[in-house]
Amino acid sequence: MKTIGLIGGMSYSSTIIYYDLLNKYSNEHFGDLTTPKIILSSVNFSIIDELQHQGNWEDLGSLLNKEARSLEQAGAEVLALCTNTMHKVTKEMLANVSIPFIHIAEAAAKKIAKDQYKKPALLATKFTMEEDFYIEKLIEYGLEPIIPKKESRDILHTIIYGELCFNVTTEESRDKFIAISQEVENAGADSVILGCTEVGMLLNDDNINLPVYDTVKVHCKEIFNYIL
Ligand code: GLU
Repeated sequence: MKTIGLIGGMSYSSTIIYYDLLNKYSNEHFGDLTTPKIILSSVNFSIIDELQHQGNWEDLGSLLNKEARSLEQAGAEVLALCTNTMHKVTKEMLANVSIPFIHIAEAAAKKIAKDQYKKPALLATKFTMEEDFYIEKLIEYGLEPIIPKKESRDILHTIIYGELCFNVTTEESRDKFIAISQEVENAGADSVILGCTEVGMLLNDDNINLPVYDTVKVHCKEIFNYIL
């Protein structure tokens, strides 16, 4: 299996899930204790959060570029970024990086299109829901994403950064997320993208009526299939 390079820590709560799933998929696939070689570069999320909310995407691009290059130098043969939001700076991050990159939105869009859904709702951070970089990728695959209303986008964003990124889950927040999944279903969504790597801590197949695409799971599957 090829060596995986992960840029994580955005947040640590969801990077734990990447580590868990990649190892689980491998154990399941081989039916024994086989696990892939993973090199993780975990960043200081406080710096990322501050730069994001200042709108300083240039520094964010250079910061992630340093991480990507050091993973390549350390022997990673494929690269993945364990957050949807930071895919906004994919191009800058990949400058002078020659190993392949597995894009989270491409992995999700490909799977949804293959399953023949058309109108996925996107539950994510405000950066991901309101800017073009992510939605454009979904549209490239022929999808027509549905975005929650403003008030719901604020709730998602606040709970992601204020609770989930601290690895905290509450039933009150889960109820709010479930209500938003009902709102997007009423707005015509035929599926739901958990388009932030922490949203799966509150939502899943058991509490959403529509088919659920958890980007962490889809991304890990794509990474694992690639390294085989
Ligand atoms: N992990 C989140 C995402 O998938 C949000 C944290 C971040 O800003 O990177 O978008």
